[in-house]
Amino acid sequence: MSETIHDVVIVGSGVAGHSAAIYAARADFEPVVYTGEDPGGQLTLTTEVENFLGFPDGIGGTELVQNGRKQAESFGARYEHRSVVDADLSERPFSLELNNGDSVETRGLIVATGASARWVGAENEDEMMGYGLSTCATCDGAFHRDNEVLVIGGGDSAMEEALFLTKFAKTVYVVHRRDELRASEIMAQRAEDNEDIEFLWNTELEAIEGSRDEGVTGATLLRHPEGHPKDRKENGEDVEEIDFECSGIFYAIGHTPNTQFLEDTPIDLDDDGYVETEVGMTTETNVEGVFAAGDVMDPDYQQAITAAGTGSMAALDAEEWLDAQADEQAKQKATATAD
Ligand code: NAP
Repeated sequence: MSETIHDVVIVGSGVAGHSAAIYAARADFEPVVYTGEDPGGQLTLTTEVENFLGFPDGIGGTELVQNGRKQAESFGARYEHRSVVDADLSERPFSLELNNGDSVETRGLIVATGASARWVGAENEDEMMGYGLSTCATCDGAFHRDNEVLVIGGGDSAMEEALFLTKFAKTVYVVHRRDELRASEIMAQRAEDNEDIEFLWNTELEAIEGSRDEGVTGATLLRHPEGHPKDRKENGEDVEEIDFECSGIFYAIGHTPNTQFLEDTPIDLDDDGYVETEVGMTTETNVEGVFAAGDVMDPDYQQAITAAGTGSMAALDAEEWLDAQADEQAKQKATATAD
């Protein structure tokens, strides 16, 4: 166990973590940021970001997060390439266990671990993510003007992504593994009513064609009239194989918030594992001194700009809380001295 008790530890190094680090460092809290295994978060999976305020010509996702880190470090934030694997938040200072076995203590904690888009498991997806394969239509949709794109999934996210993509793409094909959507009635209806959206029922993505140089050029799809063709193929059943030309593929099969290390703590998580924050415009959680920012507490917007906003809010909320704690301690000390 380190002897130092930090004022602010930030877990996560996406936009929310960097933004929190900039504010906490400028407030002289010398924050320590544990980056997690894949520093930079989801933006490192996208190529160009065109909708972040202040970059009229766009900016690379990786460049944006690297700049964020540089900016935070210039104010004194310290970054460590470690993950937090466990946390004891039952008493203060909080104790965090790192993936190298070390423990650290902190008075204030900002959770900014994000949410990871779930991947389908198609052949070539590691290679093509960010090169025509995307998990964010808002980020990458505009690269597919007048082209054909696929959206994988049958839930509300898939409908939302598909509807958004019709602004750019000639035709959006929703690829769903069954013949019935999981999406809410209203979202499903909206997508079904849109003449630029077509549904490929009982179909799954097997492989992605293309290269990093030319981008996505197509996909291999599997179809079976009774659904779940991939499972059927694995079980030796005959399935139809379809070569499909497209310039983009969007995964929309849900997100998993990165809150595994909070599961045994008193922090309230919702049914999907997202950190619940208190009612109103705040990043406070139900545990005093723990704040949450970015996608880990926001299943709805999940944008870089909103993550940056809640990151700054978390640092300001933490600052106010730490200052109030210091005032309280000073008062108690003064009273004890007077007695
Ligand atoms: P979801 O509701 O869990 O839907 C995931 C979809 O992806 C399902 O259709 C599922 O198929 C499919 N899927 C899962 N794994 C797959 C795989 N390996 N291969 C192919 N398909 C796969 O997730 P979501 O759409 O992200 O929504 C999550 C929550 O956020 C929901 O409560 C939703 O209502 C909410 N949300 C709301 C809005 C809105 O109201 N505007 C927008 C987005 C999300 P099956 O159906 O066969 O399981």
